[in-house]
Amino acid sequence: MTNKIRYFIANWKMYGDLSSLKSIQKVIKFSRLNSTKKFRIIYCPPYTLLGDFSRVVKKTSLETGAQNIHANFDFGANTGFVNSKMIKNLGVKYVILGHSENRALGEDNKHINNKILSAIKSKLTVILCIGETITQKKNKKTKTILKKQIEVCLKGINKKKRVIIAYEPVWSIGTGIIPTNIELKKNLQFIKSIVSKKIKNYKILYGGSVNPNNIKKLNEIDLLDGFLIGGASQSSKKLIDIITKTFK
Ligand code: PEP
Repeated sequence: MTNKIRYFIANWKMYGDLSSLKSIQKVIKFSRLNSTKKFRIIYCPPYTLLGDFSRVVKKTSLETGAQNIHANFDFGANTGFVNSKMIKNLGVKYVILGHSENRALGEDNKHINNKILSAIKSKLTVILCIGETITQKKNKKTKTILKKQIEVCLKGINKKKRVIIAYEPVWSIGTGIIPTNIELKKNLQFIKSIVSKKIKNYKILYGGSVNPNNIKKLNEIDLLDGFLIGGASQSSKKLIDIITKTFK
């Protein structure tokens, strides 16, 4: 990667408890000691910790994001859910939408588009996850799937809005398997060619089994603005290692 701002988005999924507030102190200290380097660390803990995390990182360079929201912008009778306004009210700046684990539960592109519109209305920066399953890849449907995900999810969004696209091949999430650099580059170029027709101000990240052992290889890809990290981001040591290696 060149001299641009690099994003490290920590998706904690359904992990973490109050003791996690202590464990992220190492990352806060690391970011203070490395303030001359151009990076952004965005913690996306579960809802139960989002308010606490946001308070803890308030006077630091770290930021927070939610892992999902309800599609309705208005308050309402939606037991068990939160909307974009509630997230924004906590001091949260980002929201992950379209994650494959939620797509697998039935979220389709149109529904994700509604969530994106609500998030933007609340001035949250959207981190839109896209990616093909192993079956789609084997059936040579990757490009068709990515194009549809981008076009439907980003429908009706003002060209000037800032969006982060996270390319996450579903077969790579939590498996330890990552695409080859050639494959990744080809798919990123394709994604960029479609996204750039829809919005001007976007970043593109890779997600899927990023860890301290494969970061150097992934980092050879200049097209990337950073990484969405699941499992490895729950360890402050691994997260710091990944960031440090990105700058070597
Ligand atoms: C993710 O949950 O978005 C992810 C990339 O997970 P992992 O890094 O564990 O593959």
